[in-house]
Parts: sequence; structure tokens; C-alpha cells
Amino acid sequence: MNTVQLIGLPTDINSTFMRGPAGAPARIRRLLSLDMMNSAAECGAELYRDIPFEDIGDLELTGGSEQAIIERSVAACLADGKRPLLLGGDHSVSYPIMKAITNHHGPVNILHVDAHPDLYQSYRGNPLSHASPFTRIMEDGLASHLVQVGIRTLNRLQQKQAERFGVEIFTMGNFVLDRVPKLQSPLYISIDLDGLDPAYAPGVSHHEPGGLSTRQLLDLLDRIDADVVGADIVEYNPDRDLNDMTAAVAAKLLKELAALIAGCNRS
Ligand code: MN
Ligand code: MN
Repeated sequence: MNTVQLIGLPTDINSTFMRGPAGAPARIRRLLSLDMMNSAAECGAELYRDIPFEDIGDLELTGGSEQAIIERSVAACLADGKRPLLLGGDHSVSYPIMKAITNHHGPVNILHVDAHPDLYQSYRGNPLSHASPFTRIMEDGLASHLVQVGIRTLNRLQQKQAERFGVEIFTMGNFVLDRVPKLQSPLYISIDLDGLDPAYAPGVSHHEPGGLSTRQLLDLLDRIDADVVGADIVEYNPDRDLNDMTAAVAAKLLKELAALIAGCNRS
């Protein structure tokens, strides 16, 4: 079993529309610590008891380049023989994470769940914007293959970028889970919570109706039999949440991703 290291990334400086995701890691952890839910993933494996799991808290992201601090911390986790599970923060964090991941593993396959392709060349002059991480990742050759699921905002500009980089996109129109191909090892999973329908996950900055149900996303994860080398859950915005229901979705996904990273799907 692989040891899963939870790392909080409290940042939202690269968000475009509103701030808030910097407060996400603390709120998601709080829900996990409550008696509201137990620590079992759906396969039955429990955090700590069956899934080797450690939480190193939130990174101190002030005083220096956030991106460099994130990359260094993920590199340290990997050098320690552990595998990272990251709580954003906005989606800009995935670029430095992927730099460290591929430095260690070489280019990996990526499953990216999102309402948005995040393929702008830059957004309002910011190449590190949360609207651009997958352009940076593809430009740097960090992904051998990028599969996007949940997409429902694909404009002409980003369609061109997707073609340029050979991104495989499954839009929400006529979405059929069985058409998503079997994802190959090594695999990294990036989940932007706005990939879910806002009815299931209202606590995000960008409400884009017509998205995945929580169950569809869990079923997508359940079918993965690849070696999962790391994952992130990003874009939770506690300021927009209702009764912590989106924090509960994030905590649930955290358990499922931890089980996948530990290797429960392969034993
Ligand atoms: Mn999004
Ligand atoms: Mn995103």
C-alpha cells in the first residue's frame, strides 16, 4: 500500500471571478473530523486504519513564489516515498503539482474533471490564472494524455487549444460514462468541484448548471484500475456553500481518492 500524504494549499490569488478557495482545506478537514461521516471509502477501506494516511496540514504560501513552494512540497513528499493528495485552493495549483509529479514519474496521464477546460493561453494577462493551468501543463509536456470530463463551457478559443494539444474532451451534452476510455497508468486525477452540477456542489465560485451528479463522478472513479500517483480537489469556495454540503462532497471525494492512491483498487 502506498502512503497518502494530505497537503492543504490555501490560495486563491489566481482566481478570476471571486476569492474564497483559500479557506477550503480547513473547512474540508473540519468535516472529516466531525462525527457526521465515518472514515471509510466505499470499498470499505478506512483512512488511517486500512489506508496509510498522513496529514501535514496547510503549506505556508506567503513570502515567496506560491508555485515554487507547492512544487517543492510535492517533490519532498515524493522523495519521501509517499504520494500526494492535495486540497486547493484554486485550480492554478495543479501546474506546480504536475511539475513535481512528472519530475519524479515522467509524463503521466491526467483525468481532469471540470465544467471548464482551463485551456486559456492566459486570462486577463495572467498565465498562471486558474483558467490556464492545463495550457501550462500541456506546453511543458507534463501529460502524456489529458482526458477532460464534465466540460460544458467549450468556446471556440479553447476548442482550438484542445486540438493543438490533443486533449480528449467528454462534454456534458449526451454524456455517457461508458464512453470514457479506460485510463492508463500512471494516472493523476484533478477534480475541480464545479465539474459537478451546482445542485450537488453549490460551494464553488463559478456556477455552471448541467453538470455531473456526485454519483456519476463516484462511478467514474470506481472504474479506475490504473496506478494513481496523486490527485487534487480544487475550487471549493466555503463562502458560497450551503450547510457545508459541498465540503461534505469534497470530504467524500478525499476518501475515495485516498483509497485509489493507496492502491485499494489494485489489491
Ligand atoms: Mn471549473
Ligand atoms: Mn478548473
